Amino acid sequence: MPQLVDLLIATHNAGKLRELVSLLKDSPVRLRTLAEFSRVGSVEETGQTFAENASLKARFYATATQCWTLADDSGLMVDALGGAPGVFSARYAGVAATDGQRIARLLSELERVSATTRSARFFCCVAISDPATSETWMFDGCCEGQISDAPRGTNGFGYDAVFVPDGYEQTFGELPEAIKQQISHRARAFNAAYQFIRTRLPQMP
Ligand code: IMP
Repeated sequence: MPQLVDLLIATHNAGKLRELVSLLKDSPVRLRTLAEFSRVGSVEETGQTFAENASLKARFYATATQCWTLADDSGLMVDALGGAPGVFSARYAGVAATDGQRIARLLSELERVSATTRSARFFCCVAISDPATSETWMFDGCCEGQISDAPRGTNGFGYDAVFVPDGYEQTFGELPEAIKQQISHRARAFNAAYQFIRTRLPQMP
């Protein structure tokens, strides 16, 4: 039987890691996590776009670990806030803030601008990088929805408790995880990446 290619899932975010491992559970690769590489430092997300940040994370960890590496960069874009928090979604209420504090800031910003629309989208960019050459393949996915008036539900992570995806009345915090795994920005980016992981990655030297 041919040896499986190792694929490092480069995230420190426990919520993301759980979703990514679940999305990749049937793929023909051996999944590795950053917990196995405790000596590898971390990289600052200095990019201006999701694609730049995903690519710089994937290339950094691929070089540092010599494993094929998958990294994602994702976030929430709210129309009434000109696309904020965007690439700053994780840092929207300060670097050490909790999900609850990020949500509180988002709801208060929407009140401040007296938003007439609460339309928003989650965006995810996935990058897969070759440790030998730093060549990087990019995939993306988007999930349209609305910001609710108040947090509802405890499923998921991040802004899930205030995001109502189009076609549903419940937030991602209330919807079963299986629904989010079908329609989320991350699931959509992964559907695009999956073909590469299934067919190209096993052939790579
Ligand atoms: P980063 O991709 O690690 O820079 O962080 C993205 C941030 O966007 C997360 O910390 C969350 O606050 C938010 N985010 C990304 N994806 C999701 C999601 O699926 N649900 C809720 N929040 C998300």
